[in-house]
Amino acid sequence: MSDPVNQGPIIQGWCPGALRPMQSGDGLVVRVRAPLGRLSQTQAAQIADLAQTYGDGLLDVSNRGNLQIRGVTEASHAPLIDGLRMLNMIDQDVARETRRNIVLTPFWRHGDDSHRVATDLMLALAAEDAPATPGKFGYAIDCGADPVLQDTPADIRIERTPHGLIVRADGSTKGLPVTADSAAEAALTLARWFLDTGGVKDGRGRMARHLAKPDVQLPDSHCAPMLPNQLAFAPGKACQGFMVALEFGQMTTDTLRTLAQTAAIRLTPWRMVLLEGASSIPATEGLITDPFSPLLHVTACTGAPGCPQALSETRPTARALAFYTQALLHVSGCAKGCAHPTAAPVTLTATAPETFDLIVGGTAASHPTRTGLSSQTLLARPELLNERP
Ligand code: SF4
Repeated sequence: MSDPVNQGPIIQGWCPGALRPMQSGDGLVVRVRAPLGRLSQTQAAQIADLAQTYGDGLLDVSNRGNLQIRGVTEASHAPLIDGLRMLNMIDQDVARETRRNIVLTPFWRHGDDSHRVATDLMLALAAEDAPATPGKFGYAIDCGADPVLQDTPADIRIERTPHGLIVRADGSTKGLPVTADSAAEAALTLARWFLDTGGVKDGRGRMARHLAKPDVQLPDSHCAPMLPNQLAFAPGKACQGFMVALEFGQMTTDTLRTLAQTAAIRLTPWRMVLLEGASSIPATEGLITDPFSPLLHVTACTGAPGCPQALSETRPTARALAFYTQALLHVSGCAKGCAHPTAAPVTLTATAPETFDLIVGGTAASHPTRTGLSSQTLLARPELLNERP
């Protein structure tokens, strides 16, 4: 039997979809890319029923604002897809599903630039000749007055500046000036440039990594400077409704039903959902409505037993330590760092059951400042989390 402790994480290089689910420790993960990131109340209620019937009753909201149905079996996958197709959640085929990797600002309004660009881009990506970008490659549409998605993983970004919209390659601080009418086509042109200039190797590739190569240069037309991110969202009243956070981005089917009874749902990439037009939500287990909840400052991946690569449980440790951290704490079941791929102020990376390395200011794979800390030690000495080298 192989020893998981001594193996590095397996890099899949692709994201699960609905038609091409990913095997996890608790079954297949079926990732639903809701068009415009929105679920009507009927859609949400019916997805809750489908997830209960064909999954294990747990759902995640991913860091790209997609909904993941967990615990699906080989046998239950086909009827689940049939049900989701009836709700208009399924693409024609795997290729189209893979390409339609779009995260849209949850603050769009019907007919505004974000909505128009997203609608155009969805249509364009469904065309037979759309650029066949690799699995993790995606688009962020963020045309509101202030950018909110710059910390959200994406490769091509459509954003607003004081002088109008730009299409920006992730990794560049400048973009190509566009209009709402030309933005989708310009985004596809940039995707084709990425493919034509060797952005994909062995079926994988990301824009920022490509741009970091010394011999790769964007066209001179990419000259308009980006605006800084304005991200600062918390549970509570928001401009278009009520924002509620999900503990570790996960909820039960009962919780989804409660949300569905309240309002239509917009999925966000921040482990929160926006309830359209709502001003409150009944107290519900697993939902965070307190903007000062310590649980908002911890993030943890699925961990064991849900993920086959996990070396330890993660969420019980994260929950217990939440009250002791002064900055964002990331608890990761292995060095892959799925829950927070970029650097965090403090990261605990599992190296064995209930045993973690402590990393300050790095990713889950960075060099640790302390190693082999048990959960009991961390709970007994939580000040270790706030040490700085
Ligand atoms: S980071 Fe967590 S979810 Fe990702 S592969 Fe490792 S254990 Fe699994």
